[in-house]
Amino acid sequence: MGEPTESSVRTEVRTWLEANWNPELGLVEWRNKLADSGWGVPHWPKQWYGRDLPVAFNAVVDEEFQRIGAVGVAKAGIRTLAAATILAHSTDLHKEKFLRRILTGEDTWCQLFSEPGSGSDMAGAVTRADRQGNKWVINGQKVWTTSAHKAEWGLLLARANWDVAKHKGLAYFILDMKQPGVQVHPLRQMNGHASFNQVFFTDAIVEPEFLVSDVGDGWKVATTTLMHERRGADGLRTWATASSRKGRIYEEERAEIATTMEPYKWYPQRAGRVDLVLERAKATGKIDDPVIRQEIAKLLIMSKTAARRAGAGPAARPGGIARQAGVEPRGAPGGAGPHLYHRRRRAPERRGQPDGRRHRRDPGVGACNIHRRRHRRNPAQHHLRAGAQDAQGAQRRHRQAVQGRAEEHHRVIVSRRRKV
Ligand SMILES: Cc1cc2nc3c(=O)[nH]c(=O)nc-3n(C[C@H](O)[C@H](O)[C@H](O)COP(=O)(O)OP(=O)(O)OC[C@H]3O[C@@H](n4cnc5c(N)ncnc54)[C@H](O)[C@@H]3O)c2cc1C
Repeated sequence: MGEPTESSVRTEVRTWLEANWNPELGLVEWRNKLADSGWGVPHWPKQWYGRDLPVAFNAVVDEEFQRIGAVGVAKAGIRTLAAATILAHSTDLHKEKFLRRILTGEDTWCQLFSEPGSGSDMAGAVTRADRQGNKWVINGQKVWTTSAHKAEWGLLLARANWDVAKHKGLAYFILDMKQPGVQVHPLRQMNGHASFNQVFFTDAIVEPEFLVSDVGDGWKVATTTLMHERRGADGLRTWATASSRKGRIYEEERAEIATTMEPYKWYPQRAGRVDLVLERAKATGKIDDPVIRQEIAKLLIMSKTAARRAGAGPAARPGGIARQAGVEPRGAPGGAGPHLYHRRRRAPERRGQPDGRRHRRDPGVGACNIHRRRHRRNPAQHHLRAGAQDAQGAQRRHRQAVQGRAEEHHRVIVSRRRKV
């Protein structure tokens, strides 16, 4: 079989979904089918429930799922970090035992990194892991642990060697949370909700095969988990949106999402619930206070500006963001994906606007400028790539853009002088 293309992947997944999708199936039953077919996580290895496809095709697959209303694999919560870490560092035994149940949503996970004395300084962890016979015995305390009260398994960073530099003495374990040596206490916030927990270990046991890293390599494995966490950091509000459709599978998915996302409802420090402020001010009548109203307006402006800037940044996932905006991926599959300039140019909300709007006027920050810098030797090339019919057209567009900027520059200077 040749290299996959967008249309071959689309045809294949569409055919498979049309033959297999059934909203009357149970959620786990359906997700097992997804795991067997590889369409739940097409970018994972074939051997482990994927199809070895470049990640750029995920968006194509997602579109086909959405088209038919099919439910995907479980994605909300710490389980995605567990899966990424296990795929990168674990033995086949772990992959066999955990990956399928992560995808089906049968297992819930938590991340046991932060401690009262080691938050930002994560390598300073003092929860101890001692080898006794052929088992590891864990004693100590973790804090801030989201979803620990529900979790079957924990990703645990603990100190196994006290005689070396702190980064080198750590080991990384998979810990059974439902054992007598693990106690979970919710941390209640001022608003009455408990989004996270303290976790205490008293002679908790880890079987030797559940050590993920060699002793000393725990830091390296933890870094993988953290990198994946960071990549998803702004995803809290978009991860898990339940469909409102009718049918058994949708009901089960709604229930799952409600449970998994419950701790994130009040996650102010991380997610930033600016969206709640206006609603709350209206409900309490504070909105009538002009000073508060002014502060809320400032907050909303800052938040919207930040979101817009983040969306326009160059750190797009390959293919992903562009695909969300309805743009065909260009370049080799798995490559850097289409440039954001093209996303901006063709994004649905911008369609139909005059060409002039395509050229941003604030040099240095726009995706357009990043794109143009790539063609520094021949600036007109930028316009050719951006859709001009031929080289002459590109030159013309370039001259117009330069001219436009010069005029704008002139206008700003004149208006500043007038003010003076
Ligand atoms: C909502 C939420 C959920 C969380 N969920 C989890 C979870 O599930 N699992 C988990 O393991 N952890 C979790 N955490 C912990 C989190 O990721 C951080 O590890 C933790 O918040 C930082 O530790 P700390 O609170 O002790 O702050 P500290 O590390 O004490 O930091 C306090 C302040 O000092 C600053 N600071 C620290 N070190 C330096 C330095 N060297 N130089 C300059 N400034 C410094 C920090 O920026 C901060 O402003 C969660 C945290 C939050 C807020």
